[in-house]
Amino acid sequence: MGRRTSSLDANRLQAIGRPLLAWYSRAKRDLPWRRSRDPYAVWVSEIMLQQTQVERVRDSFVRFMAAFPDVHTLANATEDEVLRLWEGLGYYRRARQLHAAAKQIVVRHAGLFPRSVDGLLELPGIGRYTAGAIASIAMNISAPILEANSRRVLARLAAHAAPPDAGGADAALWTLAAAIVPRRHPGRFNQALMDLGAMVCTPRQPRCTACPLAACCAAHQQGREAEIPGRPRRRATESIRESAIVARIGDRVLVLRRGPGEWWEGLWDFPRLSAVGRGLSPAIERSPLLGPLRCGPPQRLGSLTHSVTHHRIAVAVVGCEAVRRGRRAAGLAWVPLAKIGRLAMTSPGRRIAKLAAEWLPE
Ligand code: SF4
Repeated sequence: MGRRTSSLDANRLQAIGRPLLAWYSRAKRDLPWRRSRDPYAVWVSEIMLQQTQVERVRDSFVRFMAAFPDVHTLANATEDEVLRLWEGLGYYRRARQLHAAAKQIVVRHAGLFPRSVDGLLELPGIGRYTAGAIASIAMNISAPILEANSRRVLARLAAHAAPPDAGGADAALWTLAAAIVPRRHPGRFNQALMDLGAMVCTPRQPRCTACPLAACCAAHQQGREAEIPGRPRRRATESIRESAIVARIGDRVLVLRRGPGEWWEGLWDFPRLSAVGRGLSPAIERSPLLGPLRCGPPQRLGSLTHSVTHHRIAVAVVGCEAVRRGRRAAGLAWVPLAKIGRLAMTSPGRRIAKLAAEWLPE
């Protein structure tokens, strides 16, 4: 094993461009957004790919581009339409910011993307990584990127062991990324780094024997691939139990739109209460959200679990026949269950709707 050193020396890594691009020409992934260098398509795909895996993004990207083929159609859509098309991708804040940025591009930039990293950074939801990706891939600007895959590759090439959440760890890697991104083919270079991280330099068991950069990889030379990059500290999971209420009158069920600052802001869901079991009936009667909703005895329809950030949520799904509609309020609606598919809904909400459909007669 070699010396345990970090080597953030960019000069040493200038040589990676040629073998990396040659490998990329042979091995690159065939992804739907790679068939265009339109900044709009690159932008939509990059926002979708933040925190969502490639395989889940493929179909959503194709559907989204069919509905909103350019920045004007996206800017003119309603937020509900955008959120509906975002279903399955999670982290809906991205969709709202995408929508806001589209409006800004149309109103302030006559529908054209700013042609610099600084200009792109002024748009909602576009951070340093996304700006670098759009600039390099769609505009051929020599701008660096750093996301999970390329970060891992660079950290290993430089034997930079600090975990991503260590202070200053990413600043050093951004500096390295900026120093090595070439003037020619910066977009291909950046995409190649990402593909190498996804396909060869994987988090566990990187395939160093198949890697085009093995000859200049400090982690490989030091035998430290497995320990670099260091793992971020995991936040403890918090367990929550709650009940989701499917209140019905005839063929209609009560749904609510999640408010500002809540998880899934802007999406529809079934009302939830923290009470479970015997405490549920009085909790429904007392709920400031629902009250005075008069219901028959609650009936268990099923259960599900889902996660939000570091919370693990166990949901008891309960049906009740309402005899009175309760209070009218913005964000509450009685919707025919058969039409609930038209609403932009949380993914647990969709699962609850399925249980409701099994409960309600045709
Ligand atoms: S040699 Fe191994 S650790 Fe280094 S970049 Fe290639 S796959 Fe990653």
